[in-house]
Amino acid sequence: MGDEARGLSEDVVDVLVVGAGFGGMYALHKLRGLGFSVRVLERGHGVGGTWYWNRYPGARCDIESLEYSYSFSAELQQDWGWTQRYPTQPEMRAYAEHVADRFDLRPHITFGVAVTTAAYDEDDGCWRVGTDAGDLITARFLVLATGVLSAASVPQFPGQERFRGRIVHTGSWPEDTEVDGLRVGVVGTGSSGIQVVPHLAERAGHLSVFQRTANYSISAANQPLAPEYVRDVKARYPELREQARRSFTGSTVPINRQSALAVDQEERDRRFEERWALGGFAFLGSFDDVTRDPEANRLAARFVEDKIRAAVDDPTTAELLVPTGHPIGSRRICVDTGYHATFNLPHVRLVDVRRAPITGLTEAGLRTADGEEHPLHLLVLATGFDAMTGSFVRIDVRGRGGVTLREKWADGARTYLGLQTAGFPNLFTLTGPGSPAVLCNMFLALEQHVDWVADLLVEMRERGARTVEPTVDAEQDWSEQVARAAERTLYPQADSWYVGANVPGKPRVFLPYAGGVGKYRRICEQVVVDGYRTFVFDADLTVV
Ligand code: NAP
Repeated sequence: MGDEARGLSEDVVDVLVVGAGFGGMYALHKLRGLGFSVRVLERGHGVGGTWYWNRYPGARCDIESLEYSYSFSAELQQDWGWTQRYPTQPEMRAYAEHVADRFDLRPHITFGVAVTTAAYDEDDGCWRVGTDAGDLITARFLVLATGVLSAASVPQFPGQERFRGRIVHTGSWPEDTEVDGLRVGVVGTGSSGIQVVPHLAERAGHLSVFQRTANYSISAANQPLAPEYVRDVKARYPELREQARRSFTGSTVPINRQSALAVDQEERDRRFEERWALGGFAFLGSFDDVTRDPEANRLAARFVEDKIRAAVDDPTTAELLVPTGHPIGSRRICVDTGYHATFNLPHVRLVDVRRAPITGLTEAGLRTADGEEHPLHLLVLATGFDAMTGSFVRIDVRGRGGVTLREKWADGARTYLGLQTAGFPNLFTLTGPGSPAVLCNMFLALEQHVDWVADLLVEMRERGARTVEPTVDAEQDWSEQVARAAERTLYPQADSWYVGANVPGKPRVFLPYAGGVGKYRRICEQVVVDGYRTFVFDADLTVV
């Protein structure tokens, strides 16, 4: 196919955006509206990013639809009708498609093309971007909207090539995956595994769930949205959105400001029960100190552990499903519908691969260290992602002096505000490491980043500046702030993707900013008020 037919005839643009998920789409809309020429390259064949790829049975958002949506257009948020409290993947995808059509985004997106290289040219201050189709595009600004949970982490088991069944990853689920009546295995019991298991159990002939680490999961209490509730939210949208932007967690559900240790057990249980009934993440806000104080955390954990024991008939299985060794909330909490009760079904088995690890695959199935072979037709890898940095460093991004982003981040990702990294002028990492995005509502985080980048680009146009990058000092200071914010929480106590522990060889650094969404926003706003003193513009560089 020629470039023109694929829409790549224009090979010089102001802004090249990589990824047509919700961040990339908003960046396209916003920056075009400000008069920049923008092109988006997307490796998938449709919009939606995460919600395009994660189409495994049962995939559903764990943040409420009325919050997990764009706020930039009052008309859009009034017109779009969500049907359920937690939107399904098909509903999220339909929303993405609607946004693409409504704002006429498709003509500016090239689908089915993956960006493989991006090199900063120090002579003209532009990025030369290469794709797997051999295209070369020149852009003044490069916006990586590649997602924070999009580079799949795929274990390679010994003997994998011999396995006669099919292997699929939840994060790129093929639409023709057959499940009905088959012997299915699932490796992984994080958010994806916990969501897919009940749905596979409905259709598989036999289901084996290979669990290495049990995770805390809160019941979703999903339900259809009541029309009067939707009307109320829509009537108060501006106020509610602003409340979320200024909050700690990016949500309008308030944290109970009491300490769990300041009330008696009856009152504590009443509060936990109330939050449990609300469903989802709200549980962690039962008390002010659940995520910070080990004792308060233990009380909340014990409450959830008892819920697991009550849901599972077989006491040995129940004990295996009870998480140990990490505080509740220190790994991303899961939100489920009927996960634990699935293990009461006669054809569903929990296999403890902490006790007897997976040793490899055979022609017929999966083998564990105790010598047992588990016959399988389909192996589902719900094994997660090289989170927060993977999608950026999988592209061969080269900044000043030909240094790659992978080299620069070899000892841990360093950014300024999660948005830029020194030595890579005019490169923006939307919701990058060092930003609070994964600890809040991704839409809120993406909109803030895109708006902030847009303001900076307008500022540069007005100043006549060609390039921008943060100072090394600002980046160093921010990295220290990110580390300090994490130290005030229980997050670092767990092996999780927040610290890169799920990817062999990845340096252990707490990646998100845990100081709160509202505080982070104020810091970003202050940078602008202070005239971007923590950035270097090319005019300054010529002086140096
Ligand atoms: P994850 O939380 O990283 O879980 C991966 C699972 O795979 C873990 O249980 C891990 O065990 C296991 N695993 C990996 N390699 C293994 C191996 N070689 N042998 C045995 N077990 C192995 O990944 P995820 O479930 O895809 O979720 C990632 C994030 O995506 C979530 O935390 C959430 O932020 C997001 N997400 C959100 C939704 C939603 O909105 N509802 C749904 C899905 C995902 P260990 O823990 O022992 O390493």
